[in-house]
Amino acid sequence: MEEVRSFGYLCPQCGKAVLGSRSAFALSAAAARIECECGRSELDVETDGVKFHLRVPCGLCGGEHEAVCRADELLRGRGVGLACPETKQLCCYAGAPEEVRRHMEELALRARKEKADDPGAFTDNVIMYEVLSELKEIAARGGISCTCGSREYRIQVRRMCVDLTCAHCGGKLRLDAATDEDLDRLCCQMRLTIRGKA
Ligand SMILES: [Zn+2]
Ligand SMILES: [Zn+2]
Ligand SMILES: [Zn+2]
Repeated sequence: MEEVRSFGYLCPQCGKAVLGSRSAFALSAAAARIECECGRSELDVETDGVKFHLRVPCGLCGGEHEAVCRADELLRGRGVGLACPETKQLCCYAGAPEEVRRHMEELALRARKEKADDPGAFTDNVIMYEVLSELKEIAARGGISCTCGSREYRIQVRRMCVDLTCAHCGGKLRLDAATDEDLDRLCCQMRLTIRGKA
């Protein structure tokens, strides 16, 4: 089976986590470009066969960072994380698809929370923070899945609730995030199950 490597970053324009994959073979042969769906940011990868040169839009500081990593680091094993020099936090991951996806979910959650520092972004910031961090914990123990069998999902933060959407079948689970009761209800759940579309 051909080995596939993924790249992930946070789009500074629309805030979405961007994920793209290429085969290891294609990567060692030519440049690659991973674009955000919104079309306003892109990650560029170039190689001379020994090293990879990455240009990454940074969703944390809004700038763009360049990094060089060795071909063997990028093409084999778990992969590499690149840190934003401004915020000192990882802003890009490249490597094994599973690893990259997991890290990007964490990153997207964290960035959302930081964005929520803007007062008024949500009706009740504190509750939304708590709901998101609770969600993160449930996700970290692999407790989120869909009845269709998929464990991949997207998180959308809305004004007073959070929607989990199954990446596979599009099934939805809405979690209210407006009151203390909403938080209590979430905290006592070990698992969350998205009702899949049959
Ligand atoms: Zn975007
Ligand atoms: Zn940065
Ligand atoms: Zn599903």
